[in-house]
Amino acid sequence: MFIASLEQLSQIIDHIIIQLDTDYRIQTLNHKAQQVFGVESSAVRGKPYWELWKGCYQPCPFSKNLISIFDNGVVRNIKASLTTSNHEEKNYNWSAAKIYNKAGEIEGFWIVGEDNPQYCEALKREANLQQNIQDIFRHIPGYLYWKDVNSVYLGCNENFAKAAGLKKPEDIIGKTDFDLAWGKTEAELFRAGDRAVLRGEYKLDFEEPQLMADGRRRTVLASKVPLKDASGQTVGILGIYQDITARKKAEHQLQEARDQAEVASRAKTEFLANMTHDLKTPLHSVLGMTEILKHRDHSEEQEEYLNAILQSGKSILHLVNRILNYSKLESGGLQFKQEPLDLKLLIQDIVRGIQSQLRSSVTMNFDFPAKIPHIVRSDPQAIRRIISNLLGNAVKFTEKGEITLSVVKKKQSKDKVWFHFTVKDTGIGISSKNINQIFDRFYRVDPAYHGKYLGSGLGLTIAKQLVEGLGGSIAVESRLKKGSTFICELPLLLADAVELNRQIKESKIITKAKEFVGLTVLLVEDNLYSTRVTRIMLENYGCIVEMAVTGAEALQRIREKPYSLIFMDVGLPDCSGIEVTQKIRSDANPNQKTYICALTAHAREEDRQCCLKAGMNNFLSIPAGSNDFKKILKQARKIHKIT
Ligand code: ADP
Repeated sequence: MFIASLEQLSQIIDHIIIQLDTDYRIQTLNHKAQQVFGVESSAVRGKPYWELWKGCYQPCPFSKNLISIFDNGVVRNIKASLTTSNHEEKNYNWSAAKIYNKAGEIEGFWIVGEDNPQYCEALKREANLQQNIQDIFRHIPGYLYWKDVNSVYLGCNENFAKAAGLKKPEDIIGKTDFDLAWGKTEAELFRAGDRAVLRGEYKLDFEEPQLMADGRRRTVLASKVPLKDASGQTVGILGIYQDITARKKAEHQLQEARDQAEVASRAKTEFLANMTHDLKTPLHSVLGMTEILKHRDHSEEQEEYLNAILQSGKSILHLVNRILNYSKLESGGLQFKQEPLDLKLLIQDIVRGIQSQLRSSVTMNFDFPAKIPHIVRSDPQAIRRIISNLLGNAVKFTEKGEITLSVVKKKQSKDKVWFHFTVKDTGIGISSKNINQIFDRFYRVDPAYHGKYLGSGLGLTIAKQLVEGLGGSIAVESRLKKGSTFICELPLLLADAVELNRQIKESKIITKAKEFVGLTVLLVEDNLYSTRVTRIMLENYGCIVEMAVTGAEALQRIREKPYSLIFMDVGLPDCSGIEVTQKIRSDANPNQKTYICALTAHAREEDRQCCLKAGMNNFLSIPAGSNDFKKILKQARKIHKIT
């Protein structure tokens, strides 16, 4: 009765219900089961249960074995799909239960299939997702591949397949690098990378060569990492790379262009050094001779001419020195000294020096508050050049009004003070259109050919480079016809007054020395005019001067007798002054230890170093005035105690 009513019930329930006997033979199918499987219940009665599934293209949810393992009588929620007799793919939640008779013995099984549209949707979504992921992998930009732990390819994207010479990504499966376009050498390289990754290394952003299927060589930027499963176990290698051949080529071209620019810049620096040398040699004669003539008897008219020559000569020298300074700075050849100095005295001295150039309609103010520290350690020459350039411009571009130089302490640490040097004028000013260019090399608002203001357009470039070389910065504010303000910040190390005093005392000892009557000097120099100037200056100090115009002649003379001092030109007709000096120092002769000073228009630090390395004691860059010679004579006398 119970079974009969259950059978009836199964006919009205809208689930698949199948009744089996203990041998899994079909007893009944309810109406839904008949509809889904497309069979009459009577037609399949007594047939094995799994035969029902033959036309469904899916494995049947409860195999014989599966049924036999459930002990507690019920299995629920087995998800399985099937293709219905209407060719629809449907998903069901399957459950099974044992059927007991009244005596409690197993009489058979109920198999129930509940239509599960949600599950079906979920499956579809998952299938879609998988398809999407596959599409993403396939079309991902760049090159992507993955391999197993034996470096055998399991998959790749379209780009990689193409590069490897394959028609489609699936063709990569089962291949190794040795089967692909890149050949043995690169395959071995890739294999070595794989081994490192399998040892746990993450190889990120490294460059590798690659030979492509079409024979082109390229460079790739690659990353390779271990591919891990959910338990963290390494199960393969995941690699991705980009083609950076174009970028590498551009980098290479850029490097080549940079190298060429450097060569050109070196050539230019060399040219400037040579040109300034060639200009300075005749200038030495012009200025020297004029200076000598000024000390001889002459008329007032001649005095005027001499002053004009001297002034113009000095202007040319100033220009040549600017170009030289600039080329030195540009080639990075400038070295900064670190010596104790009194900043206040230095600035006062600069102001004093520049005051003579002021127009009568302009006044100059100088403000250096008494309270701020002024004993610092820096390069006095560099500071002099910076401030002189700024003040020089203020003087040049101010017709009337005033120029103010003020120094203030902006901040101070234990060992450093940040100074602001402000040069303010009431001159012609600079328009906003031009102000950004004034620190550019050779730039002048008013071009030289207008002839109104002299200049090279290098002063501010040099000042800026010097300021930056000292770790500071420079800025400008200006209004046309109202005036300009240049503010220069310099961080300067504080120094010890004791150290400064010691240095001042030493320099005083030098300046207290007497004249040089009877000093024998050998002047090795081939330029006729330059020789005459130097000779007269030295003779004015009472020196006895002997000449040598070639290296050979110099060597002959130094073997004959000892000199108190030798001035040595570097470029001689037969050999260089460097070689002559080396010979004097190395060969036995009466001048092996004599003080030697280079006398040359070469003024670069490397020229100086080269002379000192060869064994010279000092270096004098011409044009040089009589005071410069005096300093050398004093030093030579002090060091060698010559009389
Ligand atoms: P220059 O040797 O021509 O003075 P600088 O590099 O020192 O070269 O200056 C570049 C240009 O900046 C000058 O030619 C001038 O046009 C402008 N300039 C510099 N200082 C001032 C100033 N104080 N007032 C007006 N213009 C200035």
